[in-house]
Amino acid sequence: MKRVGVIGGGQLAWMMADAAQQLGVELVIQTPSENDPAVSIAQEIVFAPVDDARATEILAQKCDIITFENEFVNIQALSVLAQQGVCFRPRLEALAPLLDKYHQRCYLSDLGLPVPEFFALDQTENLKSKIEYLGLPAVLKSRRHGYDGQGTFIITDFATLEQKLSYETTTKTLNQSLFLLEEFVPFERELAIIAARSVEGEIVTYPVVETQQEQQVCRRVIAPAEITPNQVAEIHAIAHTLLNSLEVVGILGIELFLTTDGILVNEIAPRTHNSGHFSLDACETSQFEQHLRAVCGLPLGNAALQCAGAVMVNLLGYENSHSDYQSQRQQIAEIPQAHVHWYGKTESRPGRKLGHVTVLLDNQNRESAYPIAHSIESIWYPR
Ligand code: ADP
Repeated sequence: MKRVGVIGGGQLAWMMADAAQQLGVELVIQTPSENDPAVSIAQEIVFAPVDDARATEILAQKCDIITFENEFVNIQALSVLAQQGVCFRPRLEALAPLLDKYHQRCYLSDLGLPVPEFFALDQTENLKSKIEYLGLPAVLKSRRHGYDGQGTFIITDFATLEQKLSYETTTKTLNQSLFLLEEFVPFERELAIIAARSVEGEIVTYPVVETQQEQQVCRRVIAPAEITPNQVAEIHAIAHTLLNSLEVVGILGIELFLTTDGILVNEIAPRTHNSGHFSLDACETSQFEQHLRAVCGLPLGNAALQCAGAVMVNLLGYENSHSDYQSQRQQIAEIPQAHVHWYGKTESRPGRKLGHVTVLLDNQNRESAYPIAHSIESIWYPR
């Protein structure tokens, strides 16, 4: 029996529960609030913020390995624990280049992987020349702690950029060096791939998927993506390069842009990822089981689809409420081949991920996913 410590107690940790039980693994969770989803499934809990390394020291005493469902950690403080022999999987060296979006872009570009043009914003006087180089619109991103589009701003004119920077820097006591400025990519589609690497270095990839974002938040995922075998091969090669170079143990989520000129890497998440939720119902080994298998030193499982295709729709909050949306969930569950996952959050807020639904498909026609996603969304969102 292994005890796995998980830093972060959101839905990504919650979704590890079934796999943990099957594999005979106990989960000990470090998370700040008793309302967090994974509290209900944890064997034991250390109540503390995810970046509290002293709490992680306590977590380490309760388990054999520590992994992450949230990367907003304090690497420097954790490295002291690693030096004392605490086993982090993935290891901290694999996380380090990824936590800051600017460092991540530099890492990818040093590896020779295709990325959008980017700059760190460190000198105000160069702002104009950077914008002239990138053109408008451009994209401004907080270098750290961005998620679900929080911290990502599409900038359409220079005045808005200046305004945004001065607002973000004064209200959040940040400084400009904590921003990344990059070209706006006029992508045809957004794609993603989940890949896992074992302790022995074996790599398993999930099918490439199409992700659809609205206001920078993921709304839908279609598996598999309707792309050419060459594009699939290119994405597999990107995944292999990244996992091997980082020597990751566990799951990596890789988000990409498909453009008329080719593929660009947008973002890497060193953990299970929203674009892989379909695997819970559509694959023999879900991304959550795969992650636990990898970090526990077990052989990796089969990541192939067990059905022709699948569409995953996020159930996002659209109001401030304490409702559990029982009747909408019930109606969605009645859709043939639908699997509803409800994270048990006690509070709904606009844009908050409250649950998701995956519908298994009997074909790989992208168009057939649309009416299904539409019917889920018309039940879920008020008209
Ligand atoms: P987060 O970490 O918040 O998920 P991302 O960098 O993944 O931030 O951006 C969220 C979404 O914003 C992307 O999925 C995409 O739709 C849009 N986006 C981000 N960067 C760009 C870009 N350079 N060009 C065009 N759209 C972008």
